[in-house]
Amino acid sequence: MNNMRTLEIKNLHARVEEKEILKGIDLKVNTGEIHAIMGPNGTGKSTLASVIMGHYKYQTTAGSITLDGEDVLKMSVDERSRKGIFLAMQYPNEISGITNSDFIKTAMQARLAEGEHISLFKFIKQFDKAVGDLKMRSDLPHRYLNEGFSGGEKKRNEILQMKMLKPNFAILDEIDSGLDVDALRIVGENINNMRSADFGAIVITHYQRLLDYLDVDYVHIIMNGKIVKSGGKELISKIDEEGYDWIKEELGIEDEEVNKKAHAVLGSCAFKSTKE
Ligand code: ADP
Ligand code: MG
Repeated sequence: MNNMRTLEIKNLHARVEEKEILKGIDLKVNTGEIHAIMGPNGTGKSTLASVIMGHYKYQTTAGSITLDGEDVLKMSVDERSRKGIFLAMQYPNEISGITNSDFIKTAMQARLAEGEHISLFKFIKQFDKAVGDLKMRSDLPHRYLNEGFSGGEKKRNEILQMKMLKPNFAILDEIDSGLDVDALRIVGENINNMRSADFGAIVITHYQRLLDYLDVDYVHIIMNGKIVKSGGKELISKIDEEGYDWIKEELGIEDEEVNKKAHAVLGSCAFKSTKE
């Protein structure tokens, strides 16, 4: 494939509000590949997504992110998007006053060269098809972005944006949360249909359910700000059956939070017993 593109993350360290969350992430995603990222809550999955997209709250303290060798960390959020990176957020924003179709049209227009314009006819045809593929309500183009949308509608709307924008790299952060079984299948199939030599994805999920509909090539487990294990699909069913404890044991990882709580409880017991 000569048009293959590569998003590469090396030794990425990042912090939010003075706290180090990412502690050395290495991940290479090529177009044509779908990578799943799994891991317990609070281990830095959404932080990784935010850092790749360039959220202002997160500071990178070491490491690099490159797109075909170009420094992504130097790009504005807008530039990252124009270069083909797309993020479906875990909690999509509601924006009043901007309709869904205007939002997507503006984002598509921003990707074109100066002087080029989207054909309104083509846009509407494409939009209607995407709405149909996702079995969404037909009044959707005229509604304000995510305003009053149910959790599941917001998630489908993120996939609608992805289908319209056709990014080279999509990062989908818990796109499956809040979806019922039917929606899950629809969303999974629509992501699967994006598969092409020009499309790569990082799909963050805690459940194996979405992955029933979505063929993934690689699975990575994040714990405590690091990818601690990578493998193929067999990891998904193992995690589904056994959770994450076996990885902790295998790698001798201690659960920081659990330890802290245990010490606090021990501390208070000791305090009580000395008082008595
Ligand atoms: P995950 O997506 O794996 O559940 P996150 O990346 O959302 O985990 O969070 C990792 C850690 O970073 C958590 O301890 C969380 O509280 C903290 N964190 C994430 N974003 C922020 C933020 N904007 N402000 C403060 N703390 C944050
Ligand atoms: Mg998250």
